[in-house]
Amino acid sequence: MGWNGDPVWLADVLRGAGLAVIEHEGWRERGHGDFLDIRGVLCHHTAGGGPNDWRVVQDGRAGLPGPLAQLVLEKDGTYRVIAVGVCWHAGRGSWPGWPTDNANYHTIGIEAVSRGTPPWDWTPAQLDAYKRGCAALLRRIGRGAGDCVAHREYSSEGKIDPAGIDMNAFRRDVQALLDGRGGDMAFLEEKITNYHGEQVTVGTLLHYLDKHVGLALDQLSGAGTARGADFPGWDFLGDRTTAEALGVIGAALKIPGFRDPATDERA
Ligand SMILES: [Zn+2]
Repeated sequence: MGWNGDPVWLADVLRGAGLAVIEHEGWRERGHGDFLDIRGVLCHHTAGGGPNDWRVVQDGRAGLPGPLAQLVLEKDGTYRVIAVGVCWHAGRGSWPGWPTDNANYHTIGIEAVSRGTPPWDWTPAQLDAYKRGCAALLRRIGRGAGDCVAHREYSSEGKIDPAGIDMNAFRRDVQALLDGRGGDMAFLEEKITNYHGEQVTVGTLLHYLDKHVGLALDQLSGAGTARGADFPGWDFLGDRTTAEALGVIGAALKIPGFRDPATDERA
């Protein structure tokens, strides 16, 4: 892989994946020295579960100075960016492709806010953001979901976190995100030729498709039709829709086949 440097891109990469991010003051200077190279993401739970769990991650605890992880993931799916440098989160352990007992210098740690005991308190928003965040980080460092690892899988010290998360299913979802599947919206950025022969993104095309179909519906049947109103008609056509007005005019002009839809008067 070679040198990746410190992940000064953490906040941008997460935001770029559509995730909510809080950048803690001084995060770009915080850490226990520089990364060697970044080979993966190590997933944890805080074993707290409250809104202040991040404080221990940032400041440390007796005998273990902070920062203890680069990222904290809140229950609502918001990422707190705590540190850019090496953090004390991995301890001793091993994983294929990672240096044994030295993961702190090679992995980004995510401390997800959770009690860590049943009944599991993970929220859907948090689990979704957990997978999306891991996918975004792995994409940035050029690694697959196989380098998204639970602390309990890596650790030789009996860690259990993140408890309540099936890591094989988790990695499947992360890989699906990396591959552009699983609800990923990357296809919106793909280019396509529009009606005018211009190259636009699928997202732009959908925007104008929605807008123009709505305008056409309103033109034909009255303002608000595109918003769900039932053909309200136009006041300047006697509260008739375009089609109704044509029928009335045709009937008055005695054009064969036309009729006033209100009176059923035929030409
Ligand atoms: Zn842990």
